[in-house]
Amino acid sequence: MSGKADPRAAGEGTTTSRQRLDRGRGALGPALELVHTGRAPTRAVLTAELGVTRATAGAVAAELEALGLIRVDARPGAAAGSQGRPSHRLAVAEDGPVALAAQIHSDGFRAALVGLGGRIVATAPGCETVDADPAKVLASVVEAGAALLRETGRRCVGAGLAVPSAVTEPEGLALNPLHLAWPAGAPVREIFAEQVRAAGIDGPAFAANDVNLAALAEHRHGAGRGARDLLCVATGHRGVGGALVLDGRLHTGSSGLALEVGHLTVNPEGRPCHCGSRGCLDVEADPLALLTAAGRAPGPEVSLLQQAEDLVRSDYADPAVRTAAEELIDRLGLGLAGLVNILNPDRIILGGLHRTLLAADPDRLRAVVADRSLWGRSGGVPILACTLDHNSLVGAAELAWQPVLDDPLAALA
Ligand SMILES: [Zn+2]
Repeated sequence: MSGKADPRAAGEGTTTSRQRLDRGRGALGPALELVHTGRAPTRAVLTAELGVTRATAGAVAAELEALGLIRVDARPGAAAGSQGRPSHRLAVAEDGPVALAAQIHSDGFRAALVGLGGRIVATAPGCETVDADPAKVLASVVEAGAALLRETGRRCVGAGLAVPSAVTEPEGLALNPLHLAWPAGAPVREIFAEQVRAAGIDGPAFAANDVNLAALAEHRHGAGRGARDLLCVATGHRGVGGALVLDGRLHTGSSGLALEVGHLTVNPEGRPCHCGSRGCLDVEADPLALLTAAGRAPGPEVSLLQQAEDLVRSDYADPAVRTAAEELIDRLGLGLAGLVNILNPDRIILGGLHRTLLAADPDRLRAVVADRSLWGRSGGVPILACTLDHNSLVGAAELAWQPVLDDPLAALA
């Protein structure tokens, strides 16, 4: 206990700050999550959200500050709290601990340090090629992250990895890294954890699918905030992924493999897919599909995602580009409509090239989804763009932050 108890608590009988904290220990995690997700900007809001006394909320905030996780403004700001009462402002600590986040995609990898609040503190330049041996790639990305930790001198709470593959639970195997040359079933979580340990980095290590992690990050810090049944569909650099966040938690199914939306059939006569089927969303609505439909040969200079997004943004007046984009929008809409019928989400967010297609013609996409879905027709499901840069990286960091959010004292002891 830091001893920075709320001075207004002085009138509350003989309760000591130690007793208040014992009572408040169970509130540390929920309190941290409220500050982390921006839902408790002041101590007055924190008190109301936790449903505890002002004294307990004060002790909890002071303890989180003593752990170096948040900052409590020493002087109450005017009219910042409920009913206009002045209240101490709360914010994540600018110089607090960080999580090491790593992302592998078909065009390279990237490492970053991410603080509370989903703030990217530092990033290492991405690499352009991915070795066929997962151990080599993961060693490189962990080394890049370790260098960032050395440069910044930050404490690390753990490490999270995002990969473009379904990841089995609880084993942590990358089951279908279709756009990497990795063997199917590579034990990525174990390899990543070994590399993290070998680099001398503290804390546990986690791995999950990149679109799942993007959805988790958007739910906590971006376009998904406040949604109860959030559906996220996005292209990576290749292929299409999906994720569902229910009541704040990722729905990953019985063994981690739920929401493999890339293999919904949206064009029965369409292109052959790597999964053995034909006309899947994965091959009908990804960056390569757009470039091919527009008659553009993909170049080696920048990623396929970048080339496809640039094409839609700058050449939409070109009839060939517009026709190709409309074809993709219609197929994406067909896939989304099927998901709306099954999942009844209260919000859909789109990432990667799908975000760019939504921006190019939002009315067309929304009309296709409404026309083709029962629940979409009745009320109209909001379809929004993802708003975070590097949402998969931020989501990878969320995995590493989770033990701290669950029990800050135990995780940081
Ligand atoms: Zn497929």
